[in-house]
Amino acid sequence: MAAPAVTGTALLRRAERVMPGGVSSPVRAYRAVGGQPPFIVSGEGCRVRDSDGRAYVDLVCSWGPLIAGHAHPAVVAAIREQAGRGTTYGAATPLEVELAETIAAAVPSAEMVRFVSSGTEAAMSAVRLARAATGRAAILKFAGCYHGHADALLAKAGSGVATLGLPGTAGVTEGAARDTITVTYNDLGAVERAAAETPLAAIVVEPYAGNMGCVPPEPGFLEGLRAVCDRAGALLVFDEVITGFRVARGGAQGLLGLRPDLTCFGKVIGGGLPVGAYGGRRELMSLVAPLGPVYQAGTLSGNPLAMAAGLATLALLDEAAYRRLEELGQRLERGLADALRECGVPARVQRIGSLLTLFFTERAVRNEDDALTSDRERFAAFHRAMLARRVMLPPSQLECWFLSLAHDDAALDEVVDAARSSLEVIP
Ligand SMILES: *Cc1c(COP(=O)(O)O)cnc(C)c1O
Repeated sequence: MAAPAVTGTALLRRAERVMPGGVSSPVRAYRAVGGQPPFIVSGEGCRVRDSDGRAYVDLVCSWGPLIAGHAHPAVVAAIREQAGRGTTYGAATPLEVELAETIAAAVPSAEMVRFVSSGTEAAMSAVRLARAATGRAAILKFAGCYHGHADALLAKAGSGVATLGLPGTAGVTEGAARDTITVTYNDLGAVERAAAETPLAAIVVEPYAGNMGCVPPEPGFLEGLRAVCDRAGALLVFDEVITGFRVARGGAQGLLGLRPDLTCFGKVIGGGLPVGAYGGRRELMSLVAPLGPVYQAGTLSGNPLAMAAGLATLALLDEAAYRRLEELGQRLERGLADALRECGVPARVQRIGSLLTLFFTERAVRNEDDALTSDRERFAAFHRAMLARRVMLPPSQLECWFLSLAHDDAALDEVVDAARSSLEVIP
């Protein structure tokens, strides 16, 4: 291979001149872990290569969409084929119908869906719909849960905001913030008290939290939210942007046997292209324009390339695929747990299927406060040591590592070996 024309250092200098922080999304800037973020030029399977020609085992996987790994041949072929027929029409396509039917079949609560271009739009639109349906303003969310960057949902919004140590977000008006109530994840009592005090339009929740690191719901918590919503006349909104089609075809709600009123999708359903969707019961979704009064639109919504990539990705996700993802998750969890024990480092691994976080704390992480007891300096040192050993981890303690079907035992053994030697050298 020819020597790369542009080094990461030169790119970073140029990037920082023309883009805030040199990035298109804040956590990519490596502020929390230090060191220089690599500029990626290619990806294949479970590996990415940077502009200096270094290859890494990738555990970011674009923060979730790449459940089939980079450049999966079936996904690439679907995109290529569609691109040859045009990239966008601003008109209905058969692909959208097919993807909507695929989602509705896998997730029965989503009788109808509307496609948008990001998870942010999906959550923002679900909130608008919930407010319209209930005639109420207030929504309740959980500290450490992220639902995209719409004003109403940015209070205590987990990883990105917490990693940068921002108390809230400048530019969000008091009016917008006032209608958002934030309580502790896994604290059903706090939800019941809030719902008794304020008429809620919706409770919005990541059923398995992934944006304060990997945090499972305690038994009864989500069932309790369902009951509170039913009692209070509020809508239960599951944000399954990460978990949809990742933890199971039916998402977290399928595994748990729960039925939210509205569900947000993103990430996996776009197969690595920009996408989002929200869906729910027919009578609720019928409030969305043009059937109803809730306006919501998008030039590139239901984009044919994204629909094609999503369909090709979802076609790969059969029972065997989820079994394989679970096996990979188990292998990585065990390897890391052994390494931690051998090195005597106070840390713990929390995992749900192919989502996993190594928290540098011994406390069981049930909510954001627990997650924030992690030793983030130590995580930063660990991240740098792993990067030097050619393993790319999300550059924040408060994120999930993502596995894909393209990871194999050999790659995970490399990760565990790198982790063992990193744990030995970090302070
Ligand atoms: C990533 C994410 C979003 C936002 O999706 P974007 O496509 O980045 O706008 C919303 N909710 C959850 C749970 C997410 O993880």
